[in-house]
Amino acid sequence: MTPGRALEALLCALVEPACAVCHGLNDQPLASAVCAECWQRVELFDPLAQRAADMPPLLDALVSAGPHRGTLRRLVRCLKYDRRRSVARPLARLMAEAGHALLASADVVVPVPSHWWRRFRRGFNQTEELARHLGRPWACLLRRPGARIPQVHLRGVARRSNVQGAFALDVRACQRWQRHRERPVSAHDSLLDGMRVLLVDDVATTGATLGACAEVLRAAGAISVSALTAARADLGRRPAPPQPRHQEPAVRR
Ligand SMILES: [Zn+2]
Repeated sequence: MTPGRALEALLCALVEPACAVCHGLNDQPLASAVCAECWQRVELFDPLAQRAADMPPLLDALVSAGPHRGTLRRLVRCLKYDRRRSVARPLARLMAEAGHALLASADVVVPVPSHWWRRFRRGFNQTEELARHLGRPWACLLRRPGARIPQVHLRGVARRSNVQGAFALDVRACQRWQRHRERPVSAHDSLLDGMRVLLVDDVATTGATLGACAEVLRAAGAISVSALTAARADLGRRPAPPQPRHQEPAVRR
């Protein structure tokens, strides 16, 4: 038995750590806040069938790991509201499996920003936690200057109007990012001239937030803006039948 497993066995015997989703015994508390059985129960979309799903405006593609319900919905809530950062890596792994083609063609992965106050209160931005584990270059090229009503409290048209003008380019972050590019951008180019951007968010609902971000990125010169999310609310759509999960994702911190 490795020292890590021995420590986990000791923790299980002493404090009986609970899984953040099912509240049963989590026998791998050092690896993840969620037990292995819950990861096995996550429903995933068929990657090919997602192309038929209706596309929010200004996005070239939108791929989500699975439907925003059941275990996947609770996992997103664990990360977002219960501040369980250890959930981010295995969630990102599910996203990377679903969106590997988008990731391969992206020049940069950009997390959807949250207002600084919400980030401060949570201690982190959940979309950054997802982006950092996707295995591609990522940068916070957008900012959210004003606090708006959280989208989760709104529906339909109200969601779209709530995010209009909510996002802006982080010019300094873009300049820092360009210094790392192999092909320097001339003074006449836009900040994101010719770049293919992949937006990352935890949940796509109406696509209003992703569309508002895409509008800013395209205005800055991005030639392609796609999005990858952990979950997608179906809103009466039929994106794809869920697939049972057979492989347990890696759950190390
Ligand atoms: Zn569980």
